[in-house]
Amino acid sequence: MSTCSQTKWEPSKHRAGQMRTQVSTDHWDHWYNKWHMSTASRACIVRLTNKCDQRCEHCAFASGPECHGQMSVEMCEQINQWIPKSVLPNIMGGEFTILPNYPDLLLALARYRDHIHMVTNGIWGHSHAMTIRFLDTIRQIKQICPKINVAVSTDN
Ligand code: SF4
Repeated sequence: MSTCSQTKWEPSKHRAGQMRTQVSTDHWDHWYNKWHMSTASRACIVRLTNKCDQRCEHCAFASGPECHGQMSVEMCEQINQWIPKSVLPNIMGGEFTILPNYPDLLLALARYRDHIHMVTNGIWGHSHAMTIRFLDTIRQIKQICPKINVAVSTDN
């Protein structure tokens, strides 16, 4: 069972941290570090909530139904202004589609941008009404942001 406790990030155990001392270019960490450094400046993960309708034991964020808290529309507008236009917002959760106002949050993040990316668990696909809502949201975003990537990550 997942929890919502804060996970302590330990740079010494992080691959990118390890790479700073890695000198051999034939070690796989070298190539991980090159990838990490090349993408780090062009993508920014925005986690709208830690709440999720699933409870995966392997969840990297310890998300689950018992988690709470979400960003506001105002926060999303500020984040949108803060992230340079050259950087791709990668929108994740938890699962943002369970938030009642998720279309407003996505629109606030996408406005005036060329490209956004989002990751969802796709559970909304089991409901006709939720599918229509999701597709309608994408249609609205498309009117203000021409390029949208939707990644469906499902393990259940
Ligand atoms: S669906 Fe994704 S965000 Fe939700 S608990 Fe599972 S891994 Fe975590």
